[in-house]
Amino acid sequence: MILAILDHHHGAIQSASLEMLTAARGLAETLGIELEAVAIGEGAEACVETAVSYGASTVHLIEHDQLDRYAPEAWARSVAQLSEDSSPEAILGVGTERGNEVMAHLAAVMDAPLAANCMEITPGDETYFVTRVRWGGSLLEEANLSGDPKLLTVAAHVLSAAPADSPPAANTSIFSPELDEKAFRVRVKELVKPETDKVSLTDAKIIIGGGRGVGSSEGFEPLEELAALTGGAIGCSRAVTNHGWRPHADQIGQTGGRVAPDLYIACGISGAIQHMAGCKGSKVILAINTDPDASILGKANYAVIGDLHEVIPAISEALRNS
Ligand code: FAD
Repeated sequence: MILAILDHHHGAIQSASLEMLTAARGLAETLGIELEAVAIGEGAEACVETAVSYGASTVHLIEHDQLDRYAPEAWARSVAQLSEDSSPEAILGVGTERGNEVMAHLAAVMDAPLAANCMEITPGDETYFVTRVRWGGSLLEEANLSGDPKLLTVAAHVLSAAPADSPPAANTSIFSPELDEKAFRVRVKELVKPETDKVSLTDAKIIIGGGRGVGSSEGFEPLEELAALTGGAIGCSRAVTNHGWRPHADQIGQTGGRVAPDLYIACGISGAIQHMAGCKGSKVILAINTDPDASILGKANYAVIGDLHEVIPAISEALRNS
């Protein structure tokens, strides 16, 4: 059996989990074995219907009085205990920060290798042949994965999600793990809602896009300032979301959002085809880049060859003085 670990927020399954379930179902079908899913935390039972519609024949609900909120080691230990009796052929997680974190703990607990962020999984006799997305998608790695069970995460927002043509009958099982306090050393204590008064990416007439050249999450502060001055919104490249500098909701491109603002200011973005797929509808593109040979210069209407850390504050200063 293939076991898929769902990630969800109060029972709402993330799109990345649906993509992973689709990949897990494909793997189970290739191997001629069952797909089962496991959901942990508050609202887990609300995941059952969706997981079944994506082909899970059994959905295991983990019950524990301290497991309401996310706790990566406790989640991993719960899945490891669940797997002791059922001996899954492979365990798949979501290639998000949380999914990869849980699977890293699981790999340590089970002493098994983990292949993270896979976009292709081909099972062989002893090993799986996998293609992994690395370095913000600028590099694809081909690797062989061994281990019993095989541990993998499926790269987020790369594959399409599709429900099963003929879903199985719904079947749930409750599992109560034994967890000591140490398993909760890292856990979410409080959830803070994001600010809602900002202009959304889809509505914004001006978008300030930041790429790897921004350098850090703090490096976005001058971009935020320019966005506030122009009534614009912040977007970013996949390299940025992969670094964890901005949330995936800000990502523009093939595996992010599609935008069509009047003005797109691309700062420290090289102009990869996957990024341009999301912003080519912009009326005007202004690129700010230190590299005169960056491919975005061939797609931009205007360009400033220079360091964005100097150019952006200078634009803001000029706007404030105008
Ligand atoms: P880089 O390519 O590293 O470019 C950084 C740029 O910053 C360079 O041009 C550099 O000259 C410039 N720079 C550095 N420092 C400064 C400075 N101080 N001032 C000014 N300029 C500076 N990418 C996306 O963006 N969106 C997607 O949806 C997406 N989907 C993908 C899907 C798949 C299946 C794959 C394989 C890849 C995908 N990618 C996507 C990744 C894409 O191929 C690129 O790797 C990514 O867009 C690169 O991001 P970047 O331009 O920020 O970084």
